[in-house]
Amino acid sequence: MSTKQEKINAVVTERRVKLHRFNPSQREIWTIVGKEKEHWIDPQSNFCSCSGYYFGMIKSNSPCYHLESVFLAKKENKFEIIEFNDDEYESFISGIVSDL
Ligand SMILES: [Zn+2]
Repeated sequence: MSTKQEKINAVVTERRVKLHRFNPSQREIWTIVGKEKEHWIDPQSNFCSCSGYYFGMIKSNSPCYHLESVFLAKKENKFEIIEFNDDEYESFISGIVSDL
């Protein structure tokens, strides 16, 4: 068992935090590549698409480690930026949603 902090550090140092940036609107979508699938994180609304997020919020009112990983990655500037065109936005979103 690894602690939450170890998990966060691993995600950030392995550069599993991805910023998908759409141009020219500059819309941003954050994801973290997990073991089986990609998780969608919205740091502005404190949301993560993983199953642990929901139960963590109910049980202890604390979000999953993905959210904290995004905050740490932003702070330390350790994330991959992937550039997209705005016309790819909708298919990107529906790709994420169908993956949930
Ligand atoms: Zn999560």
